[in-house]
Amino acid sequence: MAEARLIDGKAFAAALRARVGKGVADLVASKGIKPGLATVLVGDDPASQVYVKSKGQVAAELGMASFDHHLPAATSEPELLQLIHALNKDPSVHGILVQLPLPRHIHTERVLMAVHSDKDVDGFHPMNVGRLGSIAAGAPLDFPVPCTPLGCSMLLADALGSLSGKTAVVVGRSTLVGRPVAQLLLRADCTVTIAHSRTRDLPALCRTADILVVAIGKPEFVRGDWIKPGAAVIDVGINRVAAGDGKTKLVGDVAYAEARCVAGHLTPVPGGVGPMTVACLMYNTLQEAGRKAGLPFAAV
Ligand code: NAP
Repeated sequence: MAEARLIDGKAFAAALRARVGKGVADLVASKGIKPGLATVLVGDDPASQVYVKSKGQVAAELGMASFDHHLPAATSEPELLQLIHALNKDPSVHGILVQLPLPRHIHTERVLMAVHSDKDVDGFHPMNVGRLGSIAAGAPLDFPVPCTPLGCSMLLADALGSLSGKTAVVVGRSTLVGRPVAQLLLRADCTVTIAHSRTRDLPALCRTADILVVAIGKPEFVRGDWIKPGAAVIDVGINRVAAGDGKTKLVGDVAYAEARCVAGHLTPVPGGVGPMTVACLMYNTLQEAGRKAGLPFAAV
């Protein structure tokens, strides 16, 4: 069998960012509105600092206003909520991103609830979770959808065209990835099963899938012989493992070399789903600014 076609998330994300950049320029020209993204980081977690910095940089590169709020680890929950309320009221801010994880003394759900649902560009507010959970098949995604799942669904639609009638198995049921991916596939008329750590005979279930999305956080857990020949495999996992001689490398949740010989389409790690997350964050921010300007929803 021929090798799987690689789904180039890096190239797709670059093209999406370029379309968002054009959308930003058009919005500035037509309505005088510059989309604004506020990032909120509490504490000094080095990985979070890198993520937040790169999000702010990409926003600026695309012509958006970027407002970075870096608060000390000792910030109290009321202080953080006060900032969120101020950002909710600020008309130059169209998207608010609260970098997770928050320090333990802060109640994450209370903070995410405090972000106005129209500025919730991560799609984590219960209002937006509910919108995605109750969306009709094929209805427009005219509200913020979590970025990584949105990226997965864009890559699948680009690689396969219509997903209608396909059997999809999503391995992982997190609110961040697995569940929203499943909702998006249901909206695209797939027949969807969500698997998790208590699923019986996972290999057999995976072998039924025309579309297999894996988001579990276990290096190369899904083996080649779990994959239906010709299936589209989206590997969301990002795992750092030892690469010998003291170095490390990133691998996904799917045994890449094995999957390459069986799948029809496959996302590599890195360079598959990963780059889509920030691109979709920018997409969501542009969409929120467009809505605020009274423009009808249109995918870019
Ligand atoms: P998570 O919250 O830890 O959820 C993991 C899910 O996997 C859970 O539902 C768990 O089942 C399931 N699981 C664990 N072991 C399993 C097993 N042996 N068999 C079947 N299911 C199993 O993780 P997450 O936040 O969804 O992230 C998953 C992966 O995606 C991680 O590697 C993460 O780094 C990556 N990720 C990448 C991006 C990106 O590309 N930008 C974004 C987000 C996450 P239970 O519910 O039963 O415990």
